[in-house]
Amino acid sequence: MTPVQPHPLPWHYRDMQPLSLLLVEDEARLAESLRRGLAEEGFAVAWAPSAEAAQRELSAGARDLIVLDLRLPGKDGLEFLRDLRQQGNTTPVLILTARGSVSERVTGLDSGADDYLVKPFAFAELLARVRALARRRSAAPAAMLKVADLELDPIRRKAWRSRRELALSPKEMILLELLMRHAGEVVTRDMIAEVAWGTGYNGFTNLIEVFVNRLRQKIDYAGSESLILTVRGAGYSLRRPA
Ligand code: CA
Repeated sequence: MTPVQPHPLPWHYRDMQPLSLLLVEDEARLAESLRRGLAEEGFAVAWAPSAEAAQRELSAGARDLIVLDLRLPGKDGLEFLRDLRQQGNTTPVLILTARGSVSERVTGLDSGADDYLVKPFAFAELLARVRALARRRSAAPAAMLKVADLELDPIRRKAWRSRRELALSPKEMILLELLMRHAGEVVTRDMIAEVAWGTGYNGFTNLIEVFVNRLRQKIDYAGSESLILTVRGAGYSLRRPA
């Protein structure tokens, strides 16, 4: 009997739903026109007027792409970006920078941005960059994932905690990869059901809980901190221990 190969992540499950994009921009009129334009192009767009609001949005559910203005009231875009990357979050980020600020662009790329766009820009250009990022992400070679002392090799389909290899089923491997790619964000039950069973979670709630608990038991060891948190009413989140 040929073993069933797990679906490769990321993206196969994204074919079933529109790309979700988080727009972090404090200028309300610009944000509204971008939101409308992107929605017309089929993106599911959430708007956050500050880094703090963006963090709340990400805590409510993971996004495929982030468009990030650097000059924001309160915590600025660069700080937000650095924190995101520090958590192990690899969501592609397109930064919006002020005209002529070369240092801002360089710092942005050094801080983990994937691309940048200089304000003011044409909507067509933003759209082209966003699409290119989505494509690049889907075609990117699968690099080793690391969150805290967890490591996962997406090509060899192997995972380790504190260098101890984990005995995971193909579906558990998929779930762990999903959680690691969205470390620090909430992975909803819907997302889990779609990657694991290719369907929505209606009627699967208990099954998902059992599934997640089994993975939790496999990755935690005596004396270790549990890395998978339950976010009541929302889903699950993989976090670095504080
Ligand atoms: Ca701004």
